[in-house]
Amino acid sequence: MDRRSFIKSTGVASLGMGLNINKTFSASKQRPSNPIVVATWDVKNATKKAWEILNSQGSSLDAIEEGCKVEEANKDGQSVGIGGLPDREGDVTLDACIMDYKGNCGSVVYLKNVKHAISVARMVMEKTPHVMIAGDGAKKFALAMGFKEENLLTEKSKKDWIKWKENEKYQPIINIENHDTIGMLAIDKNNNISGGCTTSGLAYKMQGRVGDSPIIGAGLFIDNEIGGAVATGLGEEVIKTVGSFFVVELMRQGYSPKDACKFAIERIVKKPESNYKNFQVGYIAVNKNGETGSYSIQKGFSMTQYDIRGNKTLDSPYYNKMG
Ligand code: ASP
Repeated sequence: MDRRSFIKSTGVASLGMGLNINKTFSASKQRPSNPIVVATWDVKNATKKAWEILNSQGSSLDAIEEGCKVEEANKDGQSVGIGGLPDREGDVTLDACIMDYKGNCGSVVYLKNVKHAISVARMVMEKTPHVMIAGDGAKKFALAMGFKEENLLTEKSKKDWIKWKENEKYQPIINIENHDTIGMLAIDKNNNISGGCTTSGLAYKMQGRVGDSPIIGAGLFIDNEIGGAVATGLGEEVIKTVGSFFVVELMRQGYSPKDACKFAIERIVKKPESNYKNFQVGYIAVNKNGETGSYSIQKGFSMTQYDIRGNKTLDSPYYNKMG
């Protein structure tokens, strides 16, 4: 096939697939506004808090912030906020981002000593002309906004870090206590979608390492016409495939939330020489019709969903059946 006929045939093929980058859900398909919230992992307290806000006419943005804050304040959770596992040097550093139904977003990276990273991310979105603020600047900004400085390294996480230092073996942990980055997506009674994501990142990461969670398009993406997606697991793999944006764009092409998550996971595992058996990535997604879905590489991932039928944690379908 010469170049001209190749271009011609691929052009025809993409038209045949109905590829449409500007597609939106048709008005007739839009759901009545029953609120819904979904989150990565078994975090029923967080989804309950978000649901209470959604159910009393609150905005999806408020629901996301307050829901994520529940886990950030939970000292027992070793992957988010206070109590998060530290980096190799013993510092707990937080990454978070938030995105609203207008397409606004804010993010904080490598934030130290302030536990509500999601709220600082929202402040970045609402009070600054920027999207991302990192490190010392992020902390300085948070303190100027009135956030409290506190030690985030709990006795338990310190003990675990000291034990880890005996061998200093670095290997991503698959499904930390079945509870990892908290990613949350919500639709409110006005049918507006928002999302957020908060984490202390990979346990014992190199100092300064940043994962997918504060990166819009990788850890989280919202398009109010289509839906939203959020990721958890080995952030490097999510960044390399711009995972959450990809999931939303697949939903735009008509894939269900579950199939869109599955396709995005396959994009990771089918890379040449992928060592996917050694790490976990999971996505959850919601579309404008209020349909939800999730998919992960390994067994053990779950999604919590609170809607008019109640608060439930559902096991996620997964790719690696040989695991
Ligand atoms: N995605 C997070 C990161 O890479 C960690 C996780 O979800 O376990 O920082």
